[in-house]
Amino acid sequence: MQASQRPIIIVGAGPVGLMTAHLLARQGIASTVLEQDAAISQDLRASTFHPPTLDMLDGEGLAAPLIAQGRLCPTWQIRMHDTHERAVFDLSVLKNDTAHPYRLQCEQWRLCALLVERLQDEPLVTLRFSTRLTGLEQDGDSVTAQVETPEGTERLQAPFLVGADGARSVVRGLIGLEFDGVTYPETTILATTEFPFEEHLPGLSNVNYVWKQDGTFSLLRLRDRWRCSLYPDPEMPIEEALLPANIDRKMQEIVPRDTAYEIGEARAYRVHMRITRDYRNGRVVLAGDAAHINSPSGGMGMNGGLHDAFNLTATLGEILRGGSLDLLDRYTRQRRPIAEAEVLAQADRNRSRMQERDPAKRRVIMDDLLRIIGNPESARAYLLRSSMIEALRKSAQIQ
Ligand SMILES: Cc1cc2nc3c(=O)[nH]c(=O)nc-3n(C[C@H](O)[C@H](O)[C@H](O)COP(=O)(O)OP(=O)(O)OC[C@H]3O[C@@H](n4cnc5c(N)ncnc54)[C@H](O)[C@@H]3O)c2cc1C
Repeated sequence: MQASQRPIIIVGAGPVGLMTAHLLARQGIASTVLEQDAAISQDLRASTFHPPTLDMLDGEGLAAPLIAQGRLCPTWQIRMHDTHERAVFDLSVLKNDTAHPYRLQCEQWRLCALLVERLQDEPLVTLRFSTRLTGLEQDGDSVTAQVETPEGTERLQAPFLVGADGARSVVRGLIGLEFDGVTYPETTILATTEFPFEEHLPGLSNVNYVWKQDGTFSLLRLRDRWRCSLYPDPEMPIEEALLPANIDRKMQEIVPRDTAYEIGEARAYRVHMRITRDYRNGRVVLAGDAAHINSPSGGMGMNGGLHDAFNLTATLGEILRGGSLDLLDRYTRQRRPIAEAEVLAQADRNRSRMQERDPAKRRVIMDDLLRIIGNPESARAYLLRSSMIEALRKSAQIQ
């Protein structure tokens, strides 16, 4: 067995695992990151970075390079497709709450790429791609991880292991934690196009959640393209819904054209709301999607995972400098209820609101939103929550 020279093994080189390694190195703590794939994933996933996350990234010198590759969204909106009526939320009301009063739209892999670039030159971090965790054991002093590499099986030992291995977390299963919750019935199709929707739909923001007759879609604008969330006809098999002609049919319902839309990437995904009852078992700790997942509506999953990484690395730093191991329970206390009450619950409400089909109920919701944005105080209170500032403030109050 190889006793790791590194006090922390991190499983997963997604945004949460890589950020964890970076933040530990900033405290002078060494880590080994194990990633089953040969390189970081470039799948189309998160693109929304919320204001407090940008504030945190700024402290790491990571906000400016991300902003340079993304698109700032000073407003976001919920709108009716037929009439173009819209409730526009203006993040400038948060100017005294954050140094970044806007959302950033930028692909999550760009953050991962920036982190990998830095970590490759960081002597305190060993990045091991094509290395899959398959088993683990722990005693009072250390964790032993079994990994599979192209060269064969290895065992690595370290005082702590962080499971940042995503929604299907092997670590979570190996420490015996369930992933309680639900999977929503609908499948979503995410498709990108360079078509300039902003020239055809009046008053669009760069983030738009839209009700159309008998359905919904969203339009999020990246630096050089729009990403569209579309909902296939319920009876259509998903392989069929992903065919270019069927994606085009959905796009034509947004802005009808004489020609077909040129689609860049397209992928289908299911949405879940799940959380583990604890984030810790002994010396093994979970962070990010391994611990909690939610509907992408509102763009909070990755942001919440990054917030976990900031809290967890500060906690591990305290422990390694002589603090009690029980500080890991404080990490669960500070992060889990916030994930449940602020992230999962808000994302669930966002999803339900946009899935509403009844015109009368939509009217009530729209009137309510217009009332909220009509008053600067209620608009600020709403945006403090939807921007995840309130969640971090509540978390900081918990001992
Ligand atoms: C369509 C979509 C849109 C989204 N939009 C947003 C958004 O706008 N804003 C937002 O905040 N969130 C959003 N999310 C959620 C966001 O993508 C996730 O919350 C985020 O990727 C979680 O990061 P993570 O590092 O925890 O896990 P992941 O990104 O899943 O990374 C886990 C890593 O662990 C590796 N791994 C898994 N098992 C093992 C193993 N046994 N050994 C070694 N490595 C392993 C995987 O290969 C992977 O690289 C969206 C999600 C989807 C699907």
